[in-house]
Amino acid sequence: MADRTPLIVGNWKMNQDHHQATHLVQKLAWTLKDAKHDFDSVEVAVLPPFTDLRSVQTLVDADKLDIRYGAQDVSAHESGAYTGEISPVMLAKLGVTYVAIGHSERRAYHGEDEAVTNAKIRSAFGQGIVPILCVGEGLDVRKAGNQVEHTLAQVDGALDGLGAEQAAQIVIAYEPVWAIGTGEVATPEDAQEVCGAIRARLAELYGAELADGVRVLYGGSVKSGNVAAIMAQPDVDGALVGGACLDAEEFAKIVRFDS
Ligand code: PEP
Repeated sequence: MADRTPLIVGNWKMNQDHHQATHLVQKLAWTLKDAKHDFDSVEVAVLPPFTDLRSVQTLVDADKLDIRYGAQDVSAHESGAYTGEISPVMLAKLGVTYVAIGHSERRAYHGEDEAVTNAKIRSAFGQGIVPILCVGEGLDVRKAGNQVEHTLAQVDGALDGLGAEQAAQIVIAYEPVWAIGTGEVATPEDAQEVCGAIRARLAELYGAELADGVRVLYGGSVKSGNVAAIMAQPDVDGALVGGACLDAEEFAKIVRFDS
């Protein structure tokens, strides 16, 4: 198996103004420093709202923090008459490493489908930003037992026409919609079933070696108390954390899932 560095990502959603953002990142950095966290063994990233990115960048640069940061969405376009959108060029200028694409809240409230996620993935890669593609089924699909087919169709559509060089860098987060913000976490076996199927599909599309190197995360009500069992699954390489990442101490515990 390839050596995949675990990645723990905090999705702040629409929380924290730019003052609060500075405090949260500082507190996270101090907490991880106190715990002597090794950032080479578990990578840490936060996804603040767009309006916080400049503050986070300034802090990360000034204090030489090992915490990476990214955006929660990106425009499919580089510039022009797209009122309210944020260009990947602007994000790249702010030093972002990652951008979440196709989060279930974007799909539910903004009608984002596979054509949109595909265009946004290309847009991010065009500026050297790594997409974190979010996929996962709703409760009705899960109850019908179609979670694997549903999620793989989202993966296929999002990656359509993407070359191996880019596919090798992508991060995919399996986030069952019924587990997001509900407190109802998937069992480790549920997470493994779909994360394993995602890796198998990557192997079909791009070959086993490439698939072996791609990080597949789980997201949905991850907390310090359940993260270790989820991370113990062979095809789960990290977590995308919503609610629990707004508490720096709790998020630091999630980051240090094996301690
Ligand atoms: C998310 O928003 O991606 C998420 C996983 O949220 P929560 O951890 O709150 O379920």
